[in-house]
Amino acid sequence: MTATSATSERRPRRVVLLGATGSIGRQCCDVISRFPDRFELVGVAAGSDVQALTEVVDRFGVARAAVVSPRAGQALPAGMGVGLEAACELAAMESDVVCVAIPGAAALRPTLAALDAGRTVATATKEVLVMAGELVKSRAAASGARILPVDSEHSALWQCLRGERADSVRRLVLTASGGPFRERDPSTFPAVTVAEALRHPTWTMGPKVTIDSATMMNKGLEIIEAHFLFDVAYADIGVVIHPLSIVHSFVEFIDGAVIAQLGVPDMRVPIALALADGERLPGIAATVQLTGASLDFFEVDSARFPAVALARAAGEGGGVAPAVLNAANEVAVAAFLEHRIGYDGIVALVADTVGAAPAAAAPSLADILDADAWARGFATEHISGAVSTA
Ligand code: MG
Repeated sequence: MTATSATSERRPRRVVLLGATGSIGRQCCDVISRFPDRFELVGVAAGSDVQALTEVVDRFGVARAAVVSPRAGQALPAGMGVGLEAACELAAMESDVVCVAIPGAAALRPTLAALDAGRTVATATKEVLVMAGELVKSRAAASGARILPVDSEHSALWQCLRGERADSVRRLVLTASGGPFRERDPSTFPAVTVAEALRHPTWTMGPKVTIDSATMMNKGLEIIEAHFLFDVAYADIGVVIHPLSIVHSFVEFIDGAVIAQLGVPDMRVPIALALADGERLPGIAATVQLTGASLDFFEVDSARFPAVALARAAGEGGGVAPAVLNAANEVAVAAFLEHRIGYDGIVALVADTVGAAPAAAAPSLADILDADAWARGFATEHISGAVSTA
């Protein structure tokens, strides 16, 4: 087959991986290791785990590495960069794709550095588009850089939209598993433990996104992410609960057609598709067996999951509101994981912070970082004094 011979002659795509030691980063390494003739890891960064990062460097023979904030007492190997600036330099280095898998707002500056350098960014960090969507898009437009989704729902939408005209799209619909508390009595939410919230029914992910999935804040953030990735109005982005996580999202078109993307819940599929710039690689995951599968879909209960409407409103409000929402949520989730607030306190704290935030239209990077810092301060102050036994 001609496709095969073309593949064997092609030079490997040079990959920079930011967040190499987390859940997405490790799965990224797994994909790269399975296709050594297709991918070459040329730069890696991690938040704090020097030892795990060094293992990646040694395993793949990576030329450049950086750690953002090494834990005290860790010995740094010779040549390893330190600090946010080192991670930004790594993001901008010569490459074919920069995979951003640093969780949370910490990924913003490295993402901007990659986009300013004209690099193709495959982003698994929805927080970057949530807090600074307008800015990220204008910086990408200025350099001609492209942003590819790694988030499974957005990868699904990307796949459904390929070859379609923008004016043929009526609505995007994100699917959500509903997490572990889809059917739990909401009056017992104050008693939810960290272990219960971390037990996701279908996906294995890092702790931040797993808690966000339990509250469904994750889906709220994904509405904002979809708005910026696909230039679709908030009113035309829906959410449905689909407990099996087989349909990863779908697009409704103006002629009544609906195109969905299906598959087993395995992040390596969207990771590989983004790393390969949309080309499908063989054998990434098993083919989903639809015989006997019950593909159920339910409306989102907004009383049970207030985070979805809260995030949608922040997105529609624009300005720094999504950055405030995101920062407050990061503080609230961290506090819950550290047993400092109860499960029901997470979204309540985010709502209080968003409600108290000053507005700012067309924010600059400085405005966004100020709003982010303000929200973290406000949320942290509101936590002190609150004690949880969960
Ligand atoms: Mg997702």
